[in-house]
Amino acid sequence: MEHPENSEEYKGLVVNKGIEQPSSVNPYLKRKPKKRQLSVADFVEGIVKGDVTVLSQAVTLVESIKPEHQVIAQEVIEKCLPYSGNSIRVGISGVPGAGKSTSIDVFGLHVLEKGGKLAVLAIDPSSERSKGSILGDKTRMEKLSVHPKSFIRPSPSAGSLGGVARKTRETIVLCEAAGYDKIFVETVGVGQSETAVHSMVDFFLLIQLAGTGDELQGIKRGIMEMADGIIINKADGDNLERAKLAATQFRNALHLFPAPESGWTPQVLTYSGFYNLGVKEVWDMVYEYIDFVKQNGYFEYRRNEQSKYWMYESINEHLRDSFYHHPKIEAMLQEKEQQVLQGNLTSFVAAKSLLDAYFKSL
Ligand code: GDP
Repeated sequence: MEHPENSEEYKGLVVNKGIEQPSSVNPYLKRKPKKRQLSVADFVEGIVKGDVTVLSQAVTLVESIKPEHQVIAQEVIEKCLPYSGNSIRVGISGVPGAGKSTSIDVFGLHVLEKGGKLAVLAIDPSSERSKGSILGDKTRMEKLSVHPKSFIRPSPSAGSLGGVARKTRETIVLCEAAGYDKIFVETVGVGQSETAVHSMVDFFLLIQLAGTGDELQGIKRGIMEMADGIIINKADGDNLERAKLAATQFRNALHLFPAPESGWTPQVLTYSGFYNLGVKEVWDMVYEYIDFVKQNGYFEYRRNEQSKYWMYESINEHLRDSFYHHPKIEAMLQEKEQQVLQGNLTSFVAAKSLLDAYFKSL
């Protein structure tokens, strides 16, 4: 290229020819061959064989929002369904700091003493927003995470609570097909996620702490009603007496609730996850419950009810998605909302006109 600076006019100035920029990529670096996408049959075969790598990849597909991944994921789930169901599923909930990770670590080791395999899954709809709360995170369960018979998976982070919970529900199917006969589903004790976990487990374990005497006030009544067992953690050292007192208060409070459908009387126990005290009693209670409901038929009944629930949940979710992501609706929604806010349109008329527009466009 001719540089004007090299002309006669600019005597003291010379622009030299530059050198070519080196490539920003190291030419000696060998590119990894692209991972081959497994077929549905590969996935199912790997999962049923108990291959953890394949199971993890399948769970990633389940969690993916890409439609092409979802197509494969749904087929894999369907093919795994006949191999699933043979497990006990336990929901474990408690507010942050209640000792969920500490407890799950010791609970996990305890249930694995009997053999079998354990999967720890989680539902935490806040994980997408906060990025901080990642239930089921391996680092929080030190011993369990290195146990060869455990599979720990953090909460899926995409979407609404319903969406997050559905992915966890589907992951249960895959884990069971892979031979995990004990499933823990962890959730933060904030309200909504308990209902979701309750809809996919056989036993709902609520971790509580002894407080300052007003412990019952902080807990939503609905959550307590769902619990098949309430366990007061940190019953150790100076806290032991307070934990016992809290247990009595919970027992008294439970008497006021209507008897659960299962015929089981929810138990209240104290334990210490940190010092591994009373852990056996907690699990004796869970196993006792499972025997009890298997005998009276409630186990089977409840699992069927849950399947029905998830069918309707899926329909609802898909309808909602389809509606809100429809280009016509997306274009109209804001305007209708404004009209309602300004009092120019009633909520019902606005809703109807949006729904009419949607159905007409199908
Ligand atoms: P999470 O937020 O519910 O998962 O709670 P963590 O398991 O992280 O526990 C919160 C804190 O309580 C940690 O500092 C634990 O060491 C402590 N902790 C958990 N279990 C016990 C227990 O049984 N006794 C005592 N004294 N402390 C505990």
